[in-house]
Amino acid sequence: MDTVIVLFTRDLRVHDHPALATACAQARHVVPLFVLDPAVPAGPRTPFLLDCLADLREHLRARAGDLVVRHGDTVTETMKLAGEVSAEAVHTSADVSALARRREDRLAAGRIPLRRFPGLTVVPPGALLPSGGGDHYRVFTPYWRAWSQYPRRAVLDPPERVPIPAGIEAGRLPGREPYTGMRGGEKAARARAERWLRLSLDEYAEGRDDLAGDRTSRLSPYLRFGCLSPLELVTKAAGAFVRQLCWRDFHHQVTFAFPEIDRRDYRPREVNWRDDQDAVQAWKEGMTGMPIVDAGMRQLAAEGWMHNRARLITATYLVKYLRVDWRIGARHFWELLLDGDVANNYGNWQWVAGTGNDTRPNRAFNPLRQARRFDPEGEYVRRHVPELAGLPADRVHEPGRQAGYPSPLHPSDPPGGRRL
Ligand SMILES: Cc1cc2nc3c(=O)[nH]c(=O)nc-3n(C[C@H](O)[C@H](O)[C@H](O)COP(=O)(O)OP(=O)(O)OC[C@H]3O[C@@H](n4cnc5c(N)ncnc54)[C@H](O)[C@@H]3O)c2cc1C
Repeated sequence: MDTVIVLFTRDLRVHDHPALATACAQARHVVPLFVLDPAVPAGPRTPFLLDCLADLREHLRARAGDLVVRHGDTVTETMKLAGEVSAEAVHTSADVSALARRREDRLAAGRIPLRRFPGLTVVPPGALLPSGGGDHYRVFTPYWRAWSQYPRRAVLDPPERVPIPAGIEAGRLPGREPYTGMRGGEKAARARAERWLRLSLDEYAEGRDDLAGDRTSRLSPYLRFGCLSPLELVTKAAGAFVRQLCWRDFHHQVTFAFPEIDRRDYRPREVNWRDDQDAVQAWKEGMTGMPIVDAGMRQLAAEGWMHNRARLITATYLVKYLRVDWRIGARHFWELLLDGDVANNYGNWQWVAGTGNDTRPNRAFNPLRQARRFDPEGEYVRRHVPELAGLPADRVHEPGRQAGYPSPLHPSDPPGGRRL
C-alpha cells in the first residue's frame, strides 16, 4: 500500500497504537492526522488536549513524521486530505460513543476503506459475550471473570519511523493560555504511570478510598485521551488496580451496546425527578450545607477532577436525596471533568441513579456515614471548604455547624433507600 492516513481521536500516543503500527508496517507513506472539530468541543479540557497534541507531534517528528492538524468537520477534513495525498486507506481506533460511531460510519461510507483497530480498551467492546445470550455483559462480576481470562494481544512498540510524504502542510496547533493544571501528553503520562506503579500500586487496595490521602493514580485524564494504552498499563499492574481498569472496559462495552447511555435510562425506572433549580445550583456551587458533598463539588470546580469516593457521594446526594434527574448531574460532571468521557461518566451516573448496571439499584450512600468513614480526620472537608477549616474532626462533617455556612438542603433520607 502506498499511503495511509492514521486518524487520531482519543488515542494520542505512539506506544501500543495498533492503527499507527499497522500503517507503518504496511504502507510506504503514513499521514497522522488530528482534526479539531467544533462538533467535539473540549471545553475546559482544551489546554490538556493541546498539550497532548503538541507532545504527540513531537514524538512523531522524532520519527521522521509529523502530526497534520486540520480544523472543521472530521469526516470532511479527512476525506479532503485523503484526496490530496491519494490515500488508499484510513486507519482509526474504534470507539464506542454515539458521536464517534456516527463519525466512523460516515467515514466508512466514503470512497476510501476505513480500517478500525483496537486500542481504546484492554478487551475490545463486543469481544466478550455472556454465555446466557445477549450482546454485552450487564453485570460486572461475570464480566470481570471473563475479561481476566480473555487472551490479550501483544503490547506494540512505537514505530521506529513514521514516513510522512513530502510537501504536506502540517498546520498550526492553536496556542494556549498559560495553564497551571495537569500537563497532558504521552511523556507526562508515562512518567506518572511509571512512578505510580513503582511507588504506590502496592498500597492501592488499602488507600483508594482515603479521601484526604488522595492515593489513587490520577491517570484518568491520560486514559481519557489515550496518552496511555490501557492494555500496556494492565500488563504492568496487578490486584485491585487492574479491577478498576476492568470497570473502565465494562462501561465501554455497555456503551458500545447502548450508545444512548448519556440520554436514556439503561434500565428504565419510574422516578419522579424534582425540578428544583435552586438545589441544582447549590449542589454545583458546593453550597448544599452537607460538608462532604460541598468538598467534592468544590474540588471539581477548582481542579477539574474529583476523588472517586467523592464522586459517588456527591452523585448519590443529587439523585437520591435531592431527587434531581441524573442527566443534570452527569452533564455538569461532563462539562468540568478533565477525565470526562461518555462511557465512564454516564455509566457511573446511571449506576449511582439505579438506572444502570448496579445489581442493587436502591442502594444509597449516606453522606454523613461515608464522610466519617473515608475522611475520619475531616481533612478533605477542611481542605476544600475553608469556612469549616476551624472545626475539629468530630464536628466538621456535621451539617449546619458553622455561621456563614448553609443548613442542609435535603429534606430527608432517600425514600426506600438502603443506607450504607
Ligand atoms: C458519578 C461518577 C462519574 C464518573 N465519571 C468518570 C469520567 O467521566 N471519566 C472517568 O475516567 N471516570 C469516571 N468515574 C470513575 C472514577 O471516579 C474515575 O475513573 C477515577 O476517580 C479517576 O481517578 P484515578 O485515575 O486516580 O483512578 P484510579 O483509582 O487510580 O483507577 C485507575 C483507572 O481505572 C479506571 N476506573 C477507576 N474507577 C472506575 C470506575 N468506577 N468506572 C470506570 N473506570 C474506572 C479509570 O480509568 C482510572 O483512571 C466516575 C465515577 C462516578 C461515581
